Amino acid sequence: MALPLLIVPAGGVKVVTLPKLALHLFATYESAWALAAKLAAANALSACEVSALLGISATNQYPLFPDKIPRVARALGSTLGFPPALIQGAFLGGALKCLHPLMHDRLRLCPTCSRQGHHFIVHQLRPFANCPLHGLPLRDRCRRCGGPLAYGLGSSIVFGPINCPTCRAPQLPLSVGGHPMASVMSARSLEQIARWLAFLRRRVNLAVLYEVDGGIDTGRSDGAVPSGPMRAFMPPRSASGWLSPTARGRWFSSMQTRCLEMCFWTRANRLWKQCHGHSRRWYVSVIRGQAVEAAPNPQVLAFLYWRMIWQGCSNPYLLRRSHGLPLYGIAEWEANQCAHDDDDIDITMSALNDALAASWEDWLDCIDLLGTSELKGHTWRFRASQSTFL
Ligand SMILES: [Zn+2]
Ligand SMILES: [Zn+2]
Repeated sequence: MALPLLIVPAGGVKVVTLPKLALHLFATYESAWALAAKLAAANALSACEVSALLGISATNQYPLFPDKIPRVARALGSTLGFPPALIQGAFLGGALKCLHPLMHDRLRLCPTCSRQGHHFIVHQLRPFANCPLHGLPLRDRCRRCGGPLAYGLGSSIVFGPINCPTCRAPQLPLSVGGHPMASVMSARSLEQIARWLAFLRRRVNLAVLYEVDGGIDTGRSDGAVPSGPMRAFMPPRSASGWLSPTARGRWFSSMQTRCLEMCFWTRANRLWKQCHGHSRRWYVSVIRGQAVEAAPNPQVLAFLYWRMIWQGCSNPYLLRRSHGLPLYGIAEWEANQCAHDDDDIDITMSALNDALAASWEDWLDCIDLLGTSELKGHTWRFRASQSTFL
């Protein structure tokens, strides 16, 4: 009788299984570090092994946000059942590639997000000193030993990247068996992250984002910036004509400028009609230099800023004092346009319409994301470049 024969190779039997990671453990907008850390923990892999699995080269200067997403990482993502966009976002590829220069070289964790088992790419962006979801200061050191944490996977052949390189404490929650745990993210939180990423992408050319760490939210958190209510002054006679196309004031000269002005007023009137009675009264009293209370709603505050910006110098006091963004005036906009032939006025008008709409959306985002409720002298610390809306 022939017996089955088992030949054991010299190095022993190596069992090769496909790595696993349950879909709910890795949320949209989580970082490549989080992916590697959870993958390693779920499959008992070391930092070296998970690096190889994801195709992360030790020689790459920025292995977790490379110029090109490793092919094996993409293939592994699809094997695990993750949508391609999830893997692309984790490595800051595609549309998020422009954010590479804003990435921090330390691993930064939000106390609340990390307790819930998450580390998002927004945590790695230098303009944030606090978690944009929870407002808590990001920590770049191990909670247990205080050792520094780099934004990388490390080179341990024993421990995974989820462990502190010094004391081995896990930086994200693990079950008793060492398996990663994570709560389900709310759709609202994910939408908030998406909006922040879009917000930063529109401002990626702002020098101040590179110069000041935490440039976005320090004003909100340190309390050192004076933020008293601001009064605006306007000559009484101009109050009667505002919000009508005949209130020309400072815009004049060419036919084109008048057309652009009409275009602006059409939109301004439309936005004005969307404001409710109480908001309108608040607005009028601000314009007359009377308002002291917080804006009744974000919409009217956005409208105030939006109108101030587009009318350029109609209220220099307010304009100069708001360290806000987007900073753009109709005159500046016109000066930045390419020269068109006279009969291209339609193109110019539609471009202005787009810019007006884009800046209105941007102002709503500014007011909402930056958590502003009243007119402030030092609302924000950075300014938008003029090309922001082009
Ligand atoms: Zn958080
Ligand atoms: Zn430690």
